[in-house]
Amino acid sequence: MKGSTHLAIGTAIGIAASIYYPFDPVHAAYYVAASAFSAISADLDGTNMLSSKLGKVSHRIRESALWLGLLALGAGGWLYSAGNPNYPALAAGGIGLVLLGLILKEGAVRNALVSLCGVGLLYAGWRSHSTGLIGLGVFVAWAPWLNHRGLTHTVWAALAWAFIAAAFERQLHVEGLGAAATAGYLSHLVADTLTPGGVKWLYPIVKKSIKLSF
Ligand SMILES: [Zn+2]
Repeated sequence: MKGSTHLAIGTAIGIAASIYYPFDPVHAAYYVAASAFSAISADLDGTNMLSSKLGKVSHRIRESALWLGLLALGAGGWLYSAGNPNYPALAAGGIGLVLLGLILKEGAVRNALVSLCGVGLLYAGWRSHSTGLIGLGVFVAWAPWLNHRGLTHTVWAALAWAFIAAAFERQLHVEGLGAAATAGYLSHLVADTLTPGGVKWLYPIVKKSIKLSF
């Protein structure tokens, strides 16, 4: 299912939460942001709305590594011919960069960039003693390496997400934030269940995917 559809459903849940709970503009913004974000975050396992922009960045990083490596090799050769003793360092660096550019797949670079964001959140959470941020950091750092529609699309992930959301609710004192975020996350799993691919809700205990496609 498309990311924009998940985003729309999540936003609608956030709006519903702002109507359901006593109205407060700041709380309403929290409900919509949390629920919309929750509705797309299950797809952090692979290419999705959140990381597709990083695809271009990954492409550039890989290309830059290759070109910088070739440049360093060229410069090393030039230093060597000029009798400069610093050529081995440049040559070694150049070979390293070229190899890195050749070995790294764009997907891996993208996953690493997403993980890096997760590590940033984890660090921020650790510095500010925020359980929610720490939990979110672990999720964001871990999810990109999982199989698509694998562990992030299960009741276990939904439970973990509910735990993270509850921690944010306690920290921010926004009643219902946890429920809105959890509903947003669950909406993603339900929406994917309606697609032909279905969702393995109880993976890895039950490996069969459950689908209700029309
Ligand atoms: Zn999905």
